[in-house]
Amino acid sequence: MNSKLPYKKVKIKLKDFEHDKKYKKYKQLYGICNEGKGENEIWINKKLSNFPTDTIELTKLHELVHVRRQEAHEDGNGPYEEDVVELEAISRAKKKSLNMSQEIFKDFLTHTFKLNNKGKKVKIRLYPDKPEDLKEIHKKIKHILSYKYSK
Ligand SMILES: [Zn+2]
Repeated sequence: MNSKLPYKKVKIKLKDFEHDKKYKKYKQLYGICNEGKGENEIWINKKLSNFPTDTIELTKLHELVHVRRQEAHEDGNGPYEEDVVELEAISRAKKKSLNMSQEIFKDFLTHTFKLNNKGKKVKIRLYPDKPEDLKEIHKKIKHILSYKYSK
């Protein structure tokens, strides 16, 4: 198994999908692979790569989560607190404002399994606005961060 990325094989080019009619169909994409004559080019959407979509909504949510946690006296300090705040913000963000990896975190944080009354495992969503759900989300946040902060 080759675990290395094919940097030598692939050419990476910035493209203006927004203003070039030829590429209009790619407007919503961050990037696309197997393009170009030799099908060995990766095209990156110049506009989206300049400012990640998460910047505005996620920043707003991040700051709001700081305030929520301060008011609830849940706030800590330092980089650990920043990471907790960012993950709670991701759990609250709309999917369209998240990049792919953040979306995976959102799914991990806001989906869980419960047994229904027939004893069958069913997937349910957790809502950060509900206190008991937020508690469960924070258990997951703690779990994720334990890998980063454990000694
Ligand atoms: Zn912050």
